[in-house]
Amino acid sequence: MSDAPVVVLGSGLAGWTSIKEFRKHDSQTPVVLITASSGDGYPKPALSTAFAQGKTAPQLVNGQAADLAASLHVQCHAHTRAHALNLAKQELHTDTQVFTYSRLVLAQGAEPIRLPLEGDAADRVLSVNQWADYAQLRERLQPGARVLIMGAGLIGCEFANDLAGAGFQVHVVDPATRPLAALLPPAASEPLAQALSALGVVWHWNSHVTQVSQHGTSLQAQLHSGECLHVDMVLSAIGLRPDTAWLADAGLACERGVRVNHQLQTSDPHVYALGDVAQYASAGDRVLPYVMPIMTAARALGATLAGQPTDVVFPVMPVAVKTPAFALLLALPEPGTAGHWQASEEHVWRFMADDGGCRGFVLGGKQTALRAKAMQWLAA
Ligand SMILES: Cc1cc2nc3c(=O)[nH]c(=O)nc-3n(C[C@H](O)[C@H](O)[C@H](O)COP(=O)(O)OP(=O)(O)OC[C@H]3O[C@@H](n4cnc5c(N)ncnc54)[C@H](O)[C@@H]3O)c2cc1C
Repeated sequence: MSDAPVVVLGSGLAGWTSIKEFRKHDSQTPVVLITASSGDGYPKPALSTAFAQGKTAPQLVNGQAADLAASLHVQCHAHTRAHALNLAKQELHTDTQVFTYSRLVLAQGAEPIRLPLEGDAADRVLSVNQWADYAQLRERLQPGARVLIMGAGLIGCEFANDLAGAGFQVHVVDPATRPLAALLPPAASEPLAQALSALGVVWHWNSHVTQVSQHGTSLQAQLHSGECLHVDMVLSAIGLRPDTAWLADAGLACERGVRVNHQLQTSDPHVYALGDVAQYASAGDRVLPYVMPIMTAARALGATLAGQPTDVVFPVMPVAVKTPAFALLLALPEPGTAGHWQASEEHVWRFMADDGGCRGFVLGGKQTALRAKAMQWLAA
């Protein structure tokens, strides 16, 4: 192994947690962290619940980059963006300098998908995926503002709940006919839709935004259905996608994310990946853009980087949908599992596979308290 440092790209949960886990095994090897952001630590899930709690962006920071770097003996290069990789020379190229690595950890997350929109205000559509985006959202939203959210998925619904709860007038537009359509059985979407409607959220189904234009001091959003909405902000929550083009150009195997084997190693033996950028062999070649997989992956990676090759084994990881108007806890079946959703009691649904086993569940409202019991259904 060369004397070059371990280089970590990205200071989100995946980047910082990998470093913390590595340091539990190895306090000596130099570690360099490169990140396009400030490097400060913050809990990303709080971005979609912070408004109703009245939290400002600085109040979400739970670790200053300089303090984290000092305590973990890390050289941190903030506001530095990587754009190319030379696998043969083990070099990461950034906008300021070239970094040589012994091992490289890709933890640069994923980027919001941008819909190609027409209109002179298309570039004013905001996505909230980083701390700085939330800071911008807080700055731009005046009390009582009208907000149009594109996307009724997990993040769109969470923002709808949070912003409506904070007193904003919220509209949600989605090509589907119900919230969380890709995740929930139809009967489970219903109480969520009703609870958010009761908070004042207005749904626009079977449609999407085609154009955003400036209209005096507000914005005019043209929907595919022909409807036209006047709002103060358009928030896009239609999903994330890892930016793998430059990694693929360098020769790394990429698909929906950068592909990693059971030890989080990419197709190059010196490069590893985890977090939203990774497509995990240990998860049936899926991306897992959630917190719990990062914690599990970072633990395994910390050991592997320290010379103890460790497979990552993901447990069942239910996802909590942070919509307090009607909270949900989901454990979804593996894609392609043959079976059907079955209601068992009020706001409880189980996914019954054709072989008779329970392979997933959805708990809604007060029934989210049944988590421990529901986990046993999966284990049975
Ligand atoms: C609003 C919201 C709410 C969420 N709520 C939940 C939840 O309740 N539960 C849950 O399990 N998950 C939730 N998630 C998902 C979860 O937060 C993410 O899966 C996780 O935080 C991703 O961490 P990451 O470190 O992989 O990526 P990120 O946090 O995106 O970090 C990536 C880092 O890489 C840097 N970077 C990117 N590109 C470059 C480059 N080219 N050069 C240098 N640096 C670069 C970025 O600046 C950033 O510092 C939520 C996500 C969002 C957006």
